[in-house]
Amino acid sequence: MASILAVTNQKGGVGKTTTAVNLAACLAEMGQRVLLVDLDPQGNATTGCGIVKREAMPTVYQVLIGRSTLADTRLTTDFGFDLLPANRELAGAEIDLIDLGQREYRLREALSDIRGAYHFILMDCPPALNMLTVNGLVAADRVMIPMQCEYYALEGLTDLVATLKKVRAHLNPVLEIEGLLRTMFDPRSTLTQQVSRDLEGHFGAKVYRTIIPRNVRLAEAPSYGKPVIAFDRSSKGAQAYLALAHETLERRQGKQGAGRDGTIAGARA
Ligand code: ATP
Ligand code: MG
Repeated sequence: MASILAVTNQKGGVGKTTTAVNLAACLAEMGQRVLLVDLDPQGNATTGCGIVKREAMPTVYQVLIGRSTLADTRLTTDFGFDLLPANRELAGAEIDLIDLGQREYRLREALSDIRGAYHFILMDCPPALNMLTVNGLVAADRVMIPMQCEYYALEGLTDLVATLKKVRAHLNPVLEIEGLLRTMFDPRSTLTQQVSRDLEGHFGAKVYRTIIPRNVRLAEAPSYGKPVIAFDRSSKGAQAYLALAHETLERRQGKQGAGRDGTIAGARA
């Protein structure tokens, strides 16, 4: 049964898409069956997998409004994982979903049929706390929060944690934080070091050990339509995302182990 992870942060440009695409590729390389869901009308995850977004049809939009099935919409990428693509059309979903019943549950419903076919389903959320993100959070078991270690990041995190609590209270009681991921890390900055320590102080084991450094190869890879391991495997960025994939697998195995022992899954963190 797939672990369903929403990669989310309402703050823009923190590395959500970079994380979703590269984690998908690294997990696939480790033999995991992975589906990446692009939930952002910007379609950056789609482009980053080498798919021309304006030609993608149907997309996750048709799935959400009930005009296509997930099985008919997902594509196979060149990198060993499947993709549910998105493009600008998805921006209309916010309005279209108003008239449809159970609008927060549309993605969850769509994923329920194929959940058994994957080890991981990763969702790349848009930089907003809108109905698309809510669909992602309702469909997810856990959220992965990429963040840059800068002052305003902590403020944004307070809003995000409040939203997660609301979703848990009203829509998805099992939702938990999988982890906070430090991205675009520059160890030379004193502020970065300070914010990083504050994060560890507040969130403890929820903060991933793996830190993603600022690395130009990570920024270049999407323009070639490739995850970084297919673009420059020896780069620091590629090595960091491989380490994150290992840590993600460890956490999944830890959870399954915890389940077998009869302890509450996730109690560790
Ligand atoms: P949005 O909120 O717009 O969806 P995002 O949170 O998905 O943005 P990305 O698109 O992953 O963020 O990253 C923002 C920009 O920073 C992109 O140009 C990306 O290539 C670059 N980038 C991401 N991570 C790194 C990194 N570790 N080192 C250098 N550049 C990076
Ligand atoms: Mg993005």
